Amino acid sequence: VAERVAHFKQDVWSIFTPLAAQLKAVNLGQGFMNFPPPDFVRKAAISAINTNDCNQYSHPKGRLRAREALAKSYSPLFDRTLDPETEVITSAGANEGLYAIFAGFLDDGDEVILIEPFFDQYIANITMNGGVPVYVPLRPHGDTNKIISSRDWKLDINELRSKITPKTKILVFNTPHNPVGKVFSREEMLEIAQVVQEFNLLLISDEVYDRLYYKPDVHERIATLPGLWDRTITVGSGGKTFGTTGWRVGWSIGPKHLIKTVLAAQTRIVFCVNSPLQEAIAISIEEAEAHGYYEENIALYEQRRDKLCKALSDAGLPYTIPQGSYFILANTKRINIPEDYEYPEILLNRPKDFKVCYWMAKEIGVVAIPPSEFYSEENRHLGEDYARFAFCKTDETLEAAAKALLKLK
Ligand code: GLN
Repeated sequence: VAERVAHFKQDVWSIFTPLAAQLKAVNLGQGFMNFPPPDFVRKAAISAINTNDCNQYSHPKGRLRAREALAKSYSPLFDRTLDPETEVITSAGANEGLYAIFAGFLDDGDEVILIEPFFDQYIANITMNGGVPVYVPLRPHGDTNKIISSRDWKLDINELRSKITPKTKILVFNTPHNPVGKVFSREEMLEIAQVVQEFNLLLISDEVYDRLYYKPDVHERIATLPGLWDRTITVGSGGKTFGTTGWRVGWSIGPKHLIKTVLAAQTRIVFCVNSPLQEAIAISIEEAEAHGYYEENIALYEQRRDKLCKALSDAGLPYTIPQGSYFILANTKRINIPEDYEYPEILLNRPKDFKVCYWMAKEIGVVAIPPSEFYSEENRHLGEDYARFAFCKTDETLEAAAKALLKLK
């Protein structure tokens, strides 16, 4: 086995998703929807499959219709006219988009700054391409034994500065944030922008939850801040946007000189993205506004968020109210598990939160994700008293979770 893979531990998704099924627990773990995509989105997929050329290869930078739909819908959001030929590229999910970006820009030993907690896939995407992750945590302010807001999780900009070395090449930024649910404010982003410019960094902005933010917060795109367009690639997700995480269609938006490099790498990774579902995402984007989809979807998610918040309150677990995304971090410190409790073998050498999440799955019947997986070794302790619950689930599922969580009282 190659060294770059040999040290991988079993990923958290392939532990907890099967565990939920095995224990017949309510699954609020991995962030996928358990309700169908909207009708207009499913119809788009059917019509794409029935269109002859959609079943064959696409251009490696994406189907023209998808790039045009993305350019049209995102131009107003980026305050500029996006060129579908050079400034937009589709990817096999946002995940492969990120992989292609790292493959395109990292040389061996280049450092990439990650803000903790972070989506765990970043690490492997970086290290498999020769990069070295460097970490800086968001820190919760206020009393974490009470309900706080994701606004209270803050980045210390001086701590970020202290992590920069001559080898730092990329900063990965994520808003709305997984797993904290934080929607960074313009002021916070301006501070980051300053650092990125001062040290001549490439900024990767993971904005896969860009259509999910809750009043009074709005999602602002860091690429629109002065001086940042030329050094920023913004990554988006059809799966998060339309409830189709299994379709694996994502995209990246950025200036021509950066997208060109992503294309060079991507062509050699997947050659091209799934054609019919890319077309379906194109059609969905074209039609979304006329259906009032984005607003309606936010309203539905806001209700789901409030339902899960109430469930956690009723169960007596303090948590962070998310401003965006579909995750809630709950503080599990008050859960006491007997010392002699028995865990399956695969959890024995894992941090405390893996054990708490296992116990919760087995004894309470609700699956959540242990967020220490989203931290480096050195900062793992910062995540160990939390569990991440996803609310991209039906009302029925959320109600079943609420009922089960009451056993924690
Ligand atoms: N983004 C999803 C989450 O955080 C998981 C994606 C994956 O399983 N790789 O739940």
